[in-house]
Amino acid sequence: MAAATPPGEAGAAPPPSRLPFEVIRDPRAMRARADDLRRDGLRLAVVPTMGFLHDGHLSLLRAARAQADVVILTIFVNPTQFGPGEDLDRYPRDEAGDLAKARACGVDLAFCPDAAAMYPPGAQTVIEVRELARPLCGAKRPGHFAGVATVVTKLFNLTQPHVAFFGQKDYQQLAIIRRLVRDLDQGIEIVGLPIVREPDGLAMSSRNAYLSADERRQARALSAGLEAAAVALAAGTRDAAALVARARAPIDAQPAARVDYVELRDAAELTPIERVDRPAVLAMAVFVGTTRLLDNRVLAP
Ligand code: AMP
Repeated sequence: MAAATPPGEAGAAPPPSRLPFEVIRDPRAMRARADDLRRDGLRLAVVPTMGFLHDGHLSLLRAARAQADVVILTIFVNPTQFGPGEDLDRYPRDEAGDLAKARACGVDLAFCPDAAAMYPPGAQTVIEVRELARPLCGAKRPGHFAGVATVVTKLFNLTQPHVAFFGQKDYQQLAIIRRLVRDLDQGIEIVGLPIVREPDGLAMSSRNAYLSADERRQARALSAGLEAAAVALAAGTRDAAALVARARAPIDAQPAARVDYVELRDAAELTPIERVDRPAVLAMAVFVGTTRLLDNRVLAP
């Protein structure tokens, strides 16, 4: 006789998390908990975020749930990756909403430290990835990637993951983190996942909340530009300048949009290229009104 299906195991619902949901704010408590979980032989996944979760974040959490015993979500709006005059003070926050979404995705543990606990007085160590952090956002936001690399290293040290999940939405960030983990022998598997988009193509982002209705309509031009370039490549255009021009055209046509950069670079090293004869990334940062949006697409010959 076939065994009865235990209640809750039928259907395609996410697997239930095994531990009672827990929120930890103190970095030392986080480290101690992670050490205990590892000692129990469990496989730990971490998903670092700045909160205000959307479906892009949730795709990372679901992938983590499928690959680990313990899923740790970190929510920390990291001050050291914001420059003077950037949006640190008004960055959108909704911790209660985030924790509800996290639980629904099977997260076991949310680590939500505050800035004073992460950067006590006297902190003076910074992780710098050199070449990969120079172009694109690195050129436009001095110090940004040092802030990212440092906080991600600290989050890895505190959560002791076997595997960590990041979005390709932040393509340069993902490249930098992969290199950092390799260069510093951190021994953490890095999984990069595809960009989750709104139905009209706009890449999901916490910062989309800043857009007015009119700006939101114009923001469609970013993904439209990437699509136009991909179509041109498929039709035989290999020249980088021509592909960048294709990508820019719909953006330049929007009155509220101002290109910060649109560049085609080698997909692995982010070095400049003149023709797409190996995998390349078409990466862009565009101000729509005062909101700076990112998007990118990998183009392969
Ligand atoms: P953030 O909260 O913006 O720092 O993002 C946290 C993580 O979510 C990063 O690894 C991002 O690349 C990823 N992420 C953000 N937006 C998206 C998206 N639309 N699709 C997939 N991943 C995303």
